[in-house]
Amino acid sequence: MRPTTQLPRRLPRRVEIVEVGPRDGLQNEPRAISTAEKLELVRLALEAGVGAVQVTAFVHPRWVPQMADAEEVGRGLGELARRPGDEVARDRPAVRCSALVPNLKGYQRAVAAGVKAVDYVLSASDAFNRRNLNQSIAESLRELEQVARAAADDRVALRADISAAFHSPFEGAIAPARLAGVARQAASLGVGEVGLSDTDGFADPLAVGAGVEAVLAGTSLQVEQLALHLHDTCGRAIANVMAGLEVGVRRFDASAGGLGGCPYSPGASGNLATEDLVLLLHDLGIETGIDLDRMLDAAAYALQFSARPYQGHALRVKRPELFRQA
Ligand code: MG
Repeated sequence: MRPTTQLPRRLPRRVEIVEVGPRDGLQNEPRAISTAEKLELVRLALEAGVGAVQVTAFVHPRWVPQMADAEEVGRGLGELARRPGDEVARDRPAVRCSALVPNLKGYQRAVAAGVKAVDYVLSASDAFNRRNLNQSIAESLRELEQVARAAADDRVALRADISAAFHSPFEGAIAPARLAGVARQAASLGVGEVGLSDTDGFADPLAVGAGVEAVLAGTSLQVEQLALHLHDTCGRAIANVMAGLEVGVRRFDASAGGLGGCPYSPGASGNLATEDLVLLLHDLGIETGIDLDRMLDAAAYALQFSARPYQGHALRVKRPELFRQA
């Protein structure tokens, strides 16, 4: 590993990874996954040193049956923190478990289940917003205003996740100014953090760089308030990470084992694999606070739930025995 003093000046020294496997990774898996199995994946990620985990989604179970146990997962987090011998959540105050919410009702369910951080989802693409959330961007922003007000009262951390931030499966490229406009409106409602998601995985590094720069130039948001959520559909997730790092982004979502992906992109491979991201960042001399070996344990655990072959790389390189034919 090269000394960090040789890092190009614009690369951050430390990056926070948000593990989204328990929600984004598992949500479209066809087999039933128990609450205990989901909580075990959360525990393994926290034990590997991940500082933030998106644990579930408070969505209608008819839309996403796999997330029907969101309340149980939310309550289970409290028990996870109290388990004897399990120091993860208790001894690390930075640990933050969030849940995705698509609307005010989802927010209220999350808070009732004890969740202290929520990710409210909307889109920079009106067609995607309508398809995914059944309402216009303007309607989603009006609902975000209500959620933001409630979150301020409840002292709940609020992140707005802008999906199809750079490219839409229904509209193609999203103009950076359009993305910045949605981010500006979200920020004006008091949202503390904004996630920019390449939901269908068709963004390229130039689009990611331009999108992030437009958001920084056109909103009150600082780079510390941004996160990138990248998909590997076209094999560009790692290249897009580099583009994000070069414009100063220091928070990235990733999914253990590369599970998940966009249901609107047929044949799409999944989320950026957490273990691939950790491997890259460590080779670049960027700190993550994550133990790669323990992250590989979490990835191997996650992989058993996947109906598809492994989509990442690090597990194949570091644990080849897992892939040998029996
Ligand atoms: Mg994703």
